[in-house]
Amino acid sequence: MLFDTHVHLNAEQYNDDLEEVIERAQNEGVSHMVVVGFDRPTIEKAMELAETYEFIYACVGWHPVDAIDMTDEDLLWIEELAAHPKVVALGEMGLDYHWDKSPKEIQKEVFRRQIRLAKKVQLPIVIHNREATADIVEILKEEGAEEVGGIMHCFSGSPDTAKECVKMNFYISLGGPVTFKNAKKPKEVAAEVPLDKLLIETDCPYLAPHPYRGKRNEPSYVKLVAEQIAEIKGLTYEEVAEATTRNAKNLFAIN
Ligand SMILES: [Zn+2]
Repeated sequence: MLFDTHVHLNAEQYNDDLEEVIERAQNEGVSHMVVVGFDRPTIEKAMELAETYEFIYACVGWHPVDAIDMTDEDLLWIEELAAHPKVVALGEMGLDYHWDKSPKEIQKEVFRRQIRLAKKVQLPIVIHNREATADIVEILKEEGAEEVGGIMHCFSGSPDTAKECVKMNFYISLGGPVTFKNAKKPKEVAAEVPLDKLLIETDCPYLAPHPYRGKRNEPSYVKLVAEQIAEIKGLTYEEVAEATTRNAKNLFAIN
């Protein structure tokens, strides 16, 4: 049993072979996955997948890169979707200082509004962070995000930052980069964060693990992430698979 907590099967990269990709995931033991939508088209597709497949859940929110495009109607729509039984979290939301399509101040405001919505609807949040760690931690603290908790998605920070996030009721999710030979920080985080605070993900179609690095990623590869964490922690693959699945089910309130 593997729980891939962050997939974009709603991406056009799967237009031709989505069924086969899902079948391969099931054959590799992926029992649950969360499809993340972050704008109008990707949220619609995420909902469609969650309604079609019993083992697929949805996470809906507004991406920081596109923060400038989010309208009041969009946020109301997300609030309506939050009541859907297959919507298990809000996001991905956060800050992305790598791209400058949306000014920082707008990104921060859209992030704060989504945290407040999550507290209103009582759903955990999925955080996207690119080159913005200090501001993200500050906003999570100021907005009292601890109340709902959530996931630091594809975490790439230091073990110290990871521990600070764990204290704020967040899980640390590791993806393909933990398998990269030169990825020092994700390996340190895997070693230092307790297993009961770790999740696994692919973030597919991006960030494929070794030996598929650079290719299209898919949920069946999440097994490689679990195997890498097991190796780093000196545990069995089964122990990591079981614990990360249990953690994800607890967070998303899935039986
Ligand atoms: Zn993502």
